[in-house]
Amino acid sequence: MSGIGKGITAASIGRILKERGFDVTAIKIDPYLNVDAGTMSPFQHGEVYVLKDGGEVDLDLGNYERFLNKELTSEHNITTGKVYRSVIEKERNGDYLGRTVQIIPHITNEIKDRIRKVSEDSYADICLIELGGTVGDIEGMPFLEATRQLINEEGPNNVMLVHVTLVPTLEVVGEQKTKPTQHSVKELRELGLHPDIVVGRSQKPLNKKTKSKIALFCDVPKKSVISAPDARDIYEVPLQLEKEGATDIILNHLNLQSKEKDMQEW
Ligand code: ADP
Repeated sequence: MSGIGKGITAASIGRILKERGFDVTAIKIDPYLNVDAGTMSPFQHGEVYVLKDGGEVDLDLGNYERFLNKELTSEHNITTGKVYRSVIEKERNGDYLGRTVQIIPHITNEIKDRIRKVSEDSYADICLIELGGTVGDIEGMPFLEATRQLINEEGPNNVMLVHVTLVPTLEVVGEQKTKPTQHSVKELRELGLHPDIVVGRSQKPLNKKTKSKIALFCDVPKKSVISAPDARDIYEVPLQLEKEGATDIILNHLNLQSKEKDMQEW
């Protein structure tokens, strides 16, 4: 859900991979029909973040720029509005040669093409893709379907799916509850998506019992259940993820080995 910390988690994953010597770039997907955040009230989504090319985007792009020490462009923010606009323009142009234009494959192809273009143009080793919104929302469906296709086309070891989920604590019984996580993972699996890592956002660190339950019900190894408790400062989050072993899990999954750091950068 929004505000849970997907942006900070994605930026932090980028940072820990950067610390292992990888060049990392990032894409934010916002499944709303606005073409960009420029026309949106700051009371709804917070301040608009302005990129070097003048692109008016979500605040998460600012986190990426700071955590990755990189300047991004408006191509790095994909919205439903941008995707539909270009598909409709192509249709008006006759590019689809009379075919019926549909969500699958035309919208999903447009999403995948945009992701691939940004990844290729940036020459990065790893591209983070943050899908905003909530699993199960109708707005996010084409993006989840595009993600399923992307994993299928690129191969499971070239893509990794990280699911950020809320683990609330029921104060009266003093217990961390895993049901919201179980249900969102179930919903993802119905769409053909199987998370490789589950990041549990909670007030306090996830305890052993909570981690075991999430691993069992969500069908992920126990070490892939990552605890992300409320941090005093967001810049502590990469350290939390590193301590939880997230970097090694990601590198193992992607068959990558840490690179020597470019000492000049330090
Ligand atoms: P989302 O991308 O899911 O909408 P954000 O990453 O933008 O959420 O985070 C929402 C807010 O929560 C931000 O103000 C961010 O600083 C804060 N936040 C995110 N993760 C943490 C964390 N682990 N500890 C403390 N605050 C966090």
